[in-house]
Amino acid sequence: MSGQVLQLERVSRTHGHGATSVAALRSVSLTVNAGEFVAVMGPSGSGKSSLLALAGGLDLPNAGEVFVEGTPLGGLSLNELARLRRRAVGYVFQDFNLVPSLTAAENVALPRELDGIAAKKARRQAKDALRQVGIAELADRFMDEMSGGQQQRVAIARAIVGERRLILADEPTGALDSATGDGILEVLRGRADEGAAVVLVTHEARHAAWADRVVFLKDGRIVDQTRTATDPSVLLAGAGL
Ligand code: ADP
Ligand code: MG
Repeated sequence: MSGQVLQLERVSRTHGHGATSVAALRSVSLTVNAGEFVAVMGPSGSGKSSLLALAGGLDLPNAGEVFVEGTPLGGLSLNELARLRRRAVGYVFQDFNLVPSLTAAENVALPRELDGIAAKKARRQAKDALRQVGIAELADRFMDEMSGGQQQRVAIARAIVGERRLILADEPTGALDSATGDGILEVLRGRADEGAAVVLVTHEARHAAWADRVVFLKDGRIVDQTRTATDPSVLLAGAGL
């Protein structure tokens, strides 16, 4: 697999109007290819979550254009956008966004079933994704029977289930102990190696080191890009650590 999965072209996003408006992103351009894993770092408020929301079509820019697999999101109807998100985009939210009345397996299978995949196949894919994040044995638990860390793993399983080509994760290891967090990074790395484009927001240089490239945001702009697997101290310096 090759080619551009995600492309942001001079994307700007401003919240509010007039004197109180906030520029969350200022003319950001970024391309992520199939098989590529990009980490996004930067201080709180620098625009990391805004960038991810635009990349996943959860929000639309004021200027510029976002392309997912070559499709400009700005040209889609809301229904088409929702369909593209379900089929192509796996999104790990900072606050998980799980459905409390469903089990772990049902939460993970839901986007597949909404997309018309047979229940049995969706269920099988869900179990496989739960196995990859290390909680296969919890498939039939409801959310209120799971710890925060376990719920987070369900959210990650839901993002990687099936054959999603774009995986976007906003600080997905926050509630996890470091061994589990490392395991999740290995899963994301594996997805990229299998051909997905992965974008990870993280404040941990140790996690960013799994990426092919690190993008640093500051005040809504990309201020630096580093290829990893070089010198970890470059990473630490870029992250302001
Ligand atoms: P990060 O994820 O890097 O902490 P965000 O993308 O969440 O940063 O936010 C970037 C800037 O945009 C911040 O100044 C934030 O306060 C502002 N912002 C984000 N979302 C909204 C919103 N819905 N309304 C108003 N301001 C927002
Ligand atoms: Mg954020």
